[in-house]
Amino acid sequence: MDDTECADTPDARCPRCGQAFHCGMQDAAPCGCTTVQLPAATLAMLRARYTGCLCLRCLQALAAGDAVSAAPAAAPSSAR
Ligand SMILES: [Zn+2]
Repeated sequence: MDDTECADTPDARCPRCGQAFHCGMQDAAPCGCTTVQLPAATLAMLRARYTGCLCLRCLQALAAGDAVSAAPAAAPSSAR
């Protein structure tokens, strides 16, 4: 079930929106996230709330002023 041979190119799942994405920190080319400038306060909230990277789309949304804890499309609170 688990792919044990993909350690070289770790694809991550964004903890904010749940979308799979590829973190380019290990790549030869710089990761897209290095082009996104976030305020220190936003970064601190991200580190407190999530572990690991977010996808580039979420980072850009945060840079544009979106809330750190934006709910995913499928919110479990109102499911029933
Ligand atoms: Zn995301």
